[in-house]
Amino acid sequence: MKIGFIGLGIMGRPMALNLLRGGHQVSVWARRSESMQPLLAAGAQGTASAADVAGEAELVISMVADAPDVEQVMLAENGVAAGARRGLIAVDMSTIRPAAARDIARRMAEQGIDFLDAPVSGGEVGAIAGTLSIMVGGSVEAFTKARPAFEAMGRNIVHVGDSGAGQVAKAANQIVTGVGVLTVAEALNFAARSGVDPARVREALLGGFAYSKILENHGQRMLDRNFKPGFKSWMHQKDMNIVMQSAHELGLCLPVSAATAQMYNAMVGCGLGEEDSIAILKLLERLSGGED
Ligand code: NAP
Repeated sequence: MKIGFIGLGIMGRPMALNLLRGGHQVSVWARRSESMQPLLAAGAQGTASAADVAGEAELVISMVADAPDVEQVMLAENGVAAGARRGLIAVDMSTIRPAAARDIARRMAEQGIDFLDAPVSGGEVGAIAGTLSIMVGGSVEAFTKARPAFEAMGRNIVHVGDSGAGQVAKAANQIVTGVGVLTVAEALNFAARSGVDPARVREALLGGFAYSKILENHGQRMLDRNFKPGFKSWMHQKDMNIVMQSAHELGLCLPVSAATAQMYNAMVGCGLGEEDSIAILKLLERLSGGED
């Protein structure tokens, strides 16, 4: 398949590399041209704008940051819509508000472009291994056409429902992971401050009902004090904000998410925004008068 890819950061770079490995023809664009280098070296074709990426492609994927970025690469003057061929399918795999995804889908449809929201879970590790969970909203027809591309990047690929449904699933995912990272940090900090080896506590918990992938993977990185992103804290703050804004629109009570969102706000306020979201452990330590 001829695929255009925009946004070559922590996630986008390995995802685009997996499309190449899957035998697809990939053209790329990044606003900083040096971001394109690893892809060009692997055989991708570089282009000068998002519109140029769209020109040759059957499918264009964006993996940027937030809704204004998706709007910009899809709908701005030199964006995907401006360069699209008839029948183009555009897929945004960033995490943005469901309402924003629906709005972008409507505006793309006005230009004859079928738009899917297809956010992912699985982190940098899953992006490199090609084992991402991909949750998709939009038409079944576009989903079916885009499926070969999804299969090169992920393993658990679910068409969740109409436009925006993929982002609803992702927001639900971020409730579980956002709260999960915080609770694992709390448990390990509790163990350490109780004078017990947190590594032994983690090991004991892994065999029981407290087991989670977050305890296993993120818990180990907390013990290693490896705060290199991964998933930047400001991105998780963005995602908890998506959850809280959606809850506001729906008149929903999400007490645990609300408290967790405050912690991610505090991380950014404390200058931890560029560190991995597991640096929430550092924030807890500061608040508890301990190690930092
Ligand atoms: P990242 O490393 O910051 O990469 C984002 C890339 O998008 C950067 O290369 C950035 O370009 C580019 N970009 C952002 N805004 C743009 C714009 N307006 N125009 C053109 N390019 C733009 O972030 P990431 O960790 O890959 O995350 C990307 C998305 O995936 C986010 O929505 C995030 O929430 C989601 N996500 C991340 C993870 C994870 O573990 N990291 C997991 C699941 C989902 P510059 O380099 O020029 O800034």
